[in-house]
Amino acid sequence: MKHRIEQVKKRIKDTAKACKRPMASIRLVAVSKTMPAEVVRDAIEAGILDLGENYIQEAKEKINALAAYPVTWHFIGHLQSNKARYAVRFFDLIHSVDSLKLAQELNKYAKKNDKIQAILIQVNVAKEVSKSGVYVEDTLHLLREVSRLENIAVKGLMTMPPFFNAPQKARPYFAALRELRDHIKLEAISNISMDELSMGMTGDFETAIEEGATIVRIGTAIFGDRR
Ligand SMILES: *Cc1c(COP(=O)(O)O)cnc(C)c1O
Repeated sequence: MKHRIEQVKKRIKDTAKACKRPMASIRLVAVSKTMPAEVVRDAIEAGILDLGENYIQEAKEKINALAAYPVTWHFIGHLQSNKARYAVRFFDLIHSVDSLKLAQELNKYAKKNDKIQAILIQVNVAKEVSKSGVYVEDTLHLLREVSRLENIAVKGLMTMPPFFNAPQKARPYFAALRELRDHIKLEAISNISMDELSMGMTGDFETAIEEGATIVRIGTAIFGDRR
């Protein structure tokens, strides 16, 4: 575990260096879906500070079991509105917001919990029917609506490109997310910040970093294959 984490960190560092970005501008989220709490604990003890989970029910148990550790929890899976209350209770950053309805639900529970909920907007750059996310051309409109929600703080954008066996094929999708981010930044919408780009997984994180990723979500390279 320790060795795998060191390897991933080294690859991030080497890539950052090659494109003249500070290592500190890239956050490593270890994606621990399907991994039991003991395995996640090993990762934390080996230096992981950020964890990503996809399923609320599974995550609740792990987050409770590991409550003593000062780590940041990221929700990266598809989130149904009826699970919004748990997402607010358990997660520091929710990467997968793609509708006003979901943002409103999150806002409601954030208000109840006296919390400002940090979120990212998930963008479906390739318009894949199998994936969640708002389309590029609808993102600005959604952001303007979400900016009115008092207990929501948008921090940036997230995407999952189509699955390719070659990371270079994902590059145009990463570049498109960065360009969208830059475009939105120019609009200077109040209550919206656009600093984070959550993109890149085990197969393509180096390419994502070259295209400006500030958060990479890595499961397999850290934990091995999922059962
Ligand atoms: C599972 C998952 C990951 C991690 O994928 P790996 O290929 O195992 O690194 C990243 N992001 C999301 C949204 C995921 O569901």
